[in-house]
Amino acid sequence: MYRLSGTSALRHLDRLGWNPVDHPDRRSGKMGEMSEIDGMGTERATCVLAPNPSAMTLDGTNTWIIGEPGADEVVVIDPGPKDGKHLSRVADIVTGQGRRVGLVLLTHGHPDHSAGAKKFAELAGPAVPVRAMDPRHRLGDEGLVEGDVVTTGGLELRVMETPGHSNDSLTFWIPADGAVLTGDTVLGYGTTVVEGKLGDYLSSLDRLRKFSEEAGAATILPGHGPKLDDPIAALDHYINHRRERLAQVEAAVKAGARTAREVVEVVYADVDKSLWPAAEWSVQSQLDYLNERGAL
Ligand SMILES: [Zn+2]
Repeated sequence: MYRLSGTSALRHLDRLGWNPVDHPDRRSGKMGEMSEIDGMGTERATCVLAPNPSAMTLDGTNTWIIGEPGADEVVVIDPGPKDGKHLSRVADIVTGQGRRVGLVLLTHGHPDHSAGAKKFAELAGPAVPVRAMDPRHRLGDEGLVEGDVVTTGGLELRVMETPGHSNDSLTFWIPADGAVLTGDTVLGYGTTVVEGKLGDYLSSLDRLRKFSEEAGAATILPGHGPKLDDPIAALDHYINHRRERLAQVEAAVKAGARTAREVVEVVYADVDKSLWPAAEWSVQSQLDYLNERGAL
């Protein structure tokens, strides 16, 4: 019989996509405030934290202003939700730096990243395009695909397709800063929800790990939560977490569980039952993955 270690339900919430106890701001009760996240970044990237904290968005959505030092044109990635105050604040920060927005990019189409994008582009100036993989989220004709190199104000960004969290998830590589901007594929703490295929997500993580090692990546800039200054360790943690969960599901099936619900009853036994439907959904994608590979 498979048993979970530990008894605290909170400690197991990360199985469902988040873990509030991992983060010092949450332990000290500062959750949702303008913490160290707002204003963090690298030489070229600055985070503007959107005021939409929740279980799924952690402290809020990270909007990124990215520009070459001294350049008068910047890129804004993930303007965030349709929150007029936040969108104006991002635009004001860019203007305050004596710069203008040349381009808006989206890591993926989830509304907490994309809903404010078109409004922001209009606010930022005439004919500022929004580029995204999914045509529904674009403003203008240009999309984004694997291998695209985006150049704005002398800044170079490289586009990688990293499906899993969603089918349209992209990662942007900022070579000059050694920064990997991951959207929701890797978060600053906790783990992400896999809406697409688990196999795609695992391949994306493996690819990002290999890439980070080869390219000498110094920082992960996530879609939510604080930046991570050890990309390899963060990706190993993510990969191991997924493998452990798969092993738990596999063990539950071998012990007799026949449906996603039965697996949940074993693997999530000490998690609050109100979270079981979400857990069932996650387990189903793991069962699909194991079945496709003939592991069950
Ligand atoms: Zn998302």
